[in-house]
Amino acid sequence: MGPFSPALTVSPFHPIRQREPFFEMPPRVGGIFALGVRAAMITPLLPTYARNDFAFERGNGARLFTAKGEEFLDFGAGIAVASLGHAHPHLVEALTRQAANLWHTSNLYRIPEGERLAKRLTEATFADTVFFTNSGAEALECAIKMARKFHASEGHPERFRLITFEGAFHGRTLATIAAGGQQKYIDGFGPKIEGFDQVAFGEIEAVRRAVGPETAGILIEPVQGEGGIRPAPSGFLKALRRLCDENGLLLVLDEVQCGVGRTGKLFAHEWTGITPDIMAIAKGIGGGFPMGACLATKTAAKGMTAGTHGSTFGGNPLAMAVGNAVLDVVLEKGFLDHVHKAGLRLSQKLARLADQYPKVIEEVRGQGLMLGLKCRVPNTDMVKACAGEHLLVIAAGENVVRLLPPLIVTDADIDDAVARIEKAAASLTPPTSEE
Ligand code: PLP
Repeated sequence: MGPFSPALTVSPFHPIRQREPFFEMPPRVGGIFALGVRAAMITPLLPTYARNDFAFERGNGARLFTAKGEEFLDFGAGIAVASLGHAHPHLVEALTRQAANLWHTSNLYRIPEGERLAKRLTEATFADTVFFTNSGAEALECAIKMARKFHASEGHPERFRLITFEGAFHGRTLATIAAGGQQKYIDGFGPKIEGFDQVAFGEIEAVRRAVGPETAGILIEPVQGEGGIRPAPSGFLKALRRLCDENGLLLVLDEVQCGVGRTGKLFAHEWTGITPDIMAIAKGIGGGFPMGACLATKTAAKGMTAGTHGSTFGGNPLAMAVGNAVLDVVLEKGFLDHVHKAGLRLSQKLARLADQYPKVIEEVRGQGLMLGLKCRVPNTDMVKACAGEHLLVIAAGENVVRLLPPLIVTDADIDDAVARIEKAAASLTPPTSEE
């Protein structure tokens, strides 16, 4: 039996850990174990999230467990973060080993594990240089500042504007909400940061029209995530690359959600044959440890000299140890091929479900293990129905339900998830054959 045999139910990339016997935790008053609507209302957390009424105590592979031992299949992976699933032994070992040695020294000193991670990222990509951050939004902030600074260093500080796209999501800082352009995230937070010109996603003529004397570059997600799993139309990224080259603009990619193996290539733009000048990544590179990075060519980064940018925590030894450990697995021979095949299996099975339940599922879209079900019922109903089947999935724009399983999912996990989605769909409407 080969390492990728469909008969395997344990992922070769996520060997199940030996674990201690599971003991049920005693209920805690006001604590996470007893979270209910009432408890949620009394929590001192700032209520910026409409949280689901679940609390998980531990995870293993693609599964999460509540304190009561209820098992959930996690096809959200903490919004595309737990790229190697939960409690991956290699990540646990890397983090605990680093935690026992050294947590933090600051960027005032060299951080060898960070230098090693930067070297590996540059060797695997278009980039010559890397800046480490703590999150996706910070990686985007660095990317935006870098694009502006490039033109300033060329003697054109007036070229500071970026063309962005409808449906985009780049984070929640003041600059990234302006870049994302969604009014619901912008309203009430004072004047919108200047310098972002939004056009329709996929319309090259609209982009061409938006280029002006102040344009610094173009910022795009190769596959929009929050926008509803919308891959850029075929040929669009190539056309953007050409437009950038013709006009001296920088192509900035946001691969925070679609990068680090999610689509079956290390980075999603690799499917198109083009390379960017700057790229923001996060989520999957930390596998659950908060980290991100801004990658760039030497030319695009030329304005970012000593003192122009910084971060206290970015690139700290804990994050770097985990980032390297994630790369150990993602760059392992056969891993991306596994993602690609798993994505095909999942999308084909979902397409069959869409045929069976046309009143629930309108379309299956996406790439690799970044898939979306465009729903005919409210997507939130579908998310709830899936949760009722103990399957975690995530709502996105355009009435889409996102499926972002850990990249280590097995065929058995996929078949299990599809069976649960079928039950969820059936609970919302009968299949056409039964009508
Ligand atoms: N860019 C994209 C494409 C994202 O999906 C996200 C988060 O969902 C971000 C940026 C922001 O990342 P973070 O929440 O880590 O700041």
